[in-house]
Amino acid sequence: MDFSEFDFGPEIWDGIEAMGFQKATPIQEHSIPTILEGHDLVACAQTGTGKTAAYLLPVLDRILDLPAGGINTVILVPTRELALQIDQQIQGFSYFADVSAIPIYGGGDGSTWEQQKKAITEGSDVLIATPGRLISYINLQLIDFSSVKHLILDEADRMLDMGFYNDLVKIVDQLPKERQTLLFSATMPPKIRKLASNILKDPKEVNIAISKPAEGILQCAYMVYDKQKHALITSLLQDKSDLRSIIVFTSRKADVDGLVKEMKRHKFSCEGIHSDLDQKARENVLLSFKNRHTQILVATDILSRGIDIDTIDLVVNYEVPADAEDYVHRVGRTARAERTGVAITFVNQDDQVKFKRIEDLIERDILKLPVPPELGESPVYNPQPPKKKRKWKSSSKKKNFKKKKPAGKQEKKK
Ligand code: ADP
Ligand code: MG
Repeated sequence: MDFSEFDFGPEIWDGIEAMGFQKATPIQEHSIPTILEGHDLVACAQTGTGKTAAYLLPVLDRILDLPAGGINTVILVPTRELALQIDQQIQGFSYFADVSAIPIYGGGDGSTWEQQKKAITEGSDVLIATPGRLISYINLQLIDFSSVKHLILDEADRMLDMGFYNDLVKIVDQLPKERQTLLFSATMPPKIRKLASNILKDPKEVNIAISKPAEGILQCAYMVYDKQKHALITSLLQDKSDLRSIIVFTSRKADVDGLVKEMKRHKFSCEGIHSDLDQKARENVLLSFKNRHTQILVATDILSRGIDIDTIDLVVNYEVPADAEDYVHRVGRTARAERTGVAITFVNQDDQVKFKRIEDLIERDILKLPVPPELGESPVYNPQPPKKKRKWKSSSKKKNFKKKKPAGKQEKKK
């Protein structure tokens, strides 16, 4: 669908043009009219489908009709990286419009706190905040929420995963009851529904097929022993200088540094990022990756949602993600907005069952490639579901026993 079919004011058109967007993505097509009409909305679509613009464009359009002065929009996000990224998108879209925004997030030094505090007290149309930090300012009674008209929760599932439920409720309590509330999420677990029913009013729902990675992504997997993984990744990435941006996900923070060291030993351009790094270090690593100075980024899955790095060429799952939905998010890092990409997953014997669950979720078999022969023998793919409790054999004796005393099963075990 073409953007010209939406009922935006001229400033927003200019912004869309400046960002180089031509066609609306499905989530944008379905969300934008509903938001322009003023409804509350729960919207669910996988990572990389353009959720940010789906709410920013209509909300910015509405902001332009509001009188200046006071905070009119609060956007809550799980991480400071996402806050910064949304701030950048607002600057892009509102280049021709007079809309101000402040990102508010934790970490940083005293000067960040002072800057944010100054910006808050001086006022701004939009606050983009991580819940924890916003609560700190609320506790100091520094923020006047009385003119808020829009509340947006972006990556709501991630915020709940990070334990922000109570903070969110506390923040929402501070806001005017008369407001438009929009909840965006990549997944829709029951706790999101609960949150939505608590803070949204008669929301409309948009749900775009969540559990399948975008078309255009080539997905494949290697069955390996853990001890083969280092050799496999170095051999796969050898001579891949045409792939300019590669993310390697590991499940454990502790593995990031070891893997980075190994990659560097093989002369790869590689950096690691995980939540133990301080903010400055994280920003530097990300910036260098974004600018394509660093080819390979090794990350824990804190990064797998939301961070906007265009054109990732290859995602490697160094382990199978614990959650099948997480797989979809990680793989969604490639082929964003209809570009193509490749995703490779390393599967050790213990992870085969988890991997099978992913194949079930996405309803397709992922291509299994043979490990290079010089790495030696590798496991075969034969996922065995966890063993069920001992079954009764159909010997007549046990049948009789079962018939007579069905509850005896437990008793006999003791
Ligand atoms: P999500 O929040 O769903 O993960 P984002 O909003 O971060 O996705 O968008 C992913 C990428 O796609 C961004 O780089 C964004 O600029 C780009 N994008 C979004 N919508 C469009 C569009 N209509 N046309 C072209 N690119 C788009
Ligand atoms: Mg997003």
